[in-house]
Amino acid sequence: MIKRLNGPFVFPVRDIVRRPGEMREFEVEIQVPEKWGEGLVSVPEGEPVQLEVRLESVHEGILVSGEADATYTGVCGRCLRDIAHPTEVEFQELFAYPGSEATDFEVQDDHVDLETLVRDAIVLSLPFQPVCQPDCPGLDPATGERLAEGTESHAAPIDPRWAALQDYTTDTEAVPHSTGARDDDAQAAPRAENTEKS
Ligand SMILES: [Zn+2]
Repeated sequence: MIKRLNGPFVFPVRDIVRRPGEMREFEVEIQVPEKWGEGLVSVPEGEPVQLEVRLESVHEGILVSGEADATYTGVCGRCLRDIAHPTEVEFQELFAYPGSEATDFEVQDDHVDLETLVRDAIVLSLPFQPVCQPDCPGLDPATGERLAEGTESHAAPIDPRWAALQDYTTDTEAVPHSTGARDDDAQAAPRAENTEKS
């Protein structure tokens, strides 16, 4: 009886095992078998993952490289809005032949199982602090309400005491340019304007 390959992330390598230089490529879509990720966002069970895989036979084993695309969902870390974003990861790992130096991955009989490799690559790509958009204003710290887009919670009105200083700053900056005054104090500025005409 033919042994069934177990699991959607299992790829056959029988025809390239111990034949360095041989290569096989696969493009497949696989359903995520269980939820990937434990944070605010994750790739839910059943979500499709687009997988491009290249299996290269090398002296030590099978060199696996490829790219995985999936969509993660969850909530924005600032405003708690539901979000869904694509993620794209690349991976490369040597699946060594049994009995060679210790590695995390091994060629098993006539196949390689990429589930752990792909899952770890995707989970590591998930943002720890996901946001619905880069400038998400988040929640109002006082009311807990979602702030309107474009609102910034730190854009407080200018304190009236500083407003007066702002006028002063503008005036004094203008004086040297318009009058060419020397090191006179601010009160001397009007006189300086007059004397310049002479
Ligand atoms: Zn948000």
